[in-house]
Amino acid sequence: MKQKKFLLPESEIPTAWFNMQAVMPNKPLPILNPATHEALKPQDLYPIFCEECANQELNQKDEWIPIPDPVREQYAVYRCTPLVRAYDLEAALGTPAHIYFKNESVSPAGSHKLNSALAQAYYAKQQGITNITTETGAGQWGGALSYAAKKFGLECAVYMVKVSYEQKPYRRSIMETFGATITPSPSMSTRAGKDIITANPNDQGSLGCAISEAIELAVSTPNCKYTLGSVLNHVCLHQTVIGLEAEKQMELAGEYPDIVIACFGGGSNFSGITYPFMRHNIQEGKKTRFIAAEPASCPKLTRGKFEYDFGDEAGLTPLLPMYTLGHDFKPASIHAGGLRYHGAGVIMSQLMKDGFMEAVDVEQLDSFNAGVLFARTEGIIPAPESCHAIAATIKEALKCKEIGEGKTILFNLSGHGMVDMSAYDKYFSGEMRNYNISDEELQKYIKSADALNK
Ligand SMILES: *Cc1c(COP(=O)(O)O)cnc(C)c1O
Repeated sequence: MKQKKFLLPESEIPTAWFNMQAVMPNKPLPILNPATHEALKPQDLYPIFCEECANQELNQKDEWIPIPDPVREQYAVYRCTPLVRAYDLEAALGTPAHIYFKNESVSPAGSHKLNSALAQAYYAKQQGITNITTETGAGQWGGALSYAAKKFGLECAVYMVKVSYEQKPYRRSIMETFGATITPSPSMSTRAGKDIITANPNDQGSLGCAISEAIELAVSTPNCKYTLGSVLNHVCLHQTVIGLEAEKQMELAGEYPDIVIACFGGGSNFSGITYPFMRHNIQEGKKTRFIAAEPASCPKLTRGKFEYDFGDEAGLTPLLPMYTLGHDFKPASIHAGGLRYHGAGVIMSQLMKDGFMEAVDVEQLDSFNAGVLFARTEGIIPAPESCHAIAATIKEALKCKEIGEGKTILFNLSGHGMVDMSAYDKYFSGEMRNYNISDEELQKYIKSADALNK
């Protein structure tokens, strides 16, 4: 029988995260204070984030950052995650390519997001923080953080966009099961929420407003810090456990990837699977290709512009140098909620600019076609976000078939879709559609970022 799963024991959980900032040839441009346009120092971030995360955010020096033992112990609940050879998907495609996937859906939260949630909760606890807060749209990050907070004895308050709170009751139940307090946003508990409700009592909420509420709570409550589940450098750093394990597992399989693929929202799972391989391109001249799969309806890497922009809709964050569609960008309501973000993380943006990675866009219907084929061949129902990585993988595997070349492709299965079955229902009933966005419309939104770069 052919070996399908490549497993590592708990003792092989990485002992340090890989810090891409230390090895990339061109360092990211500085993060700026929007009022003064001065480069931020870690201390400037202390009022919002816990100190260790703020330090990691701007660390361009240390290639390896040790993973604290208590975090490794919590990782051991679900790590090392399996690396799987997708023989049945290969057979269904008739491709000579070897397809592998790293299965991050086995975490208690059902996605890779827990890799950073545990680290952030631990550092908060270490610093004497008692409460952490965040916003959540679809509920993936909120679910991961709720569990991580419980594990490290912290109170967790999640502001959930009101429309999702009502439409995704199971994600809310998951967060409550793990012990978090969930508030539909906008709420009357903050100034930001009150202002919005006063202006429009029926406001259905937005991620921008939920962020404002969470940050307001963090800065106005003693011993309370804000956390974020993607985009930021320290979040991407924590995710490198994915690729570090995968590197060892590919060795067990006796192969090295020609192509590594991940879906792309803010870039955390992409960084996680790619950086440990990309460092060999940078340091040893390996030629692996790295492909980010983004939704066609939110194409920041394929059609966005590299410039300074706010990280959030409300304009509360520092200015980040990144590929962006403009912070005013209103993504279509695709089912891959985790990919509906206007910008790309700062490190990935620089790597993209410097030619170390590429990006493709995937239409919503193509992503679900791919997800259903994957479920039927490999037995895991993928998250709508992960379906984008699968679609991009299938495209590359079919190219291999065309040219008769058996490349080795590795993709990250960022999460499972068991709480997203309503999206699959829409796909099967024929109600799902694609969303195209014209250049004209895109340019209109990008202007909101252009205005900040004068
Ligand atoms: C949040 C999420 C994503 C997108 O976020 P990244 O930071 O780009 O990784 C992808 N897949 C799943 C399952 C998610 O929950």
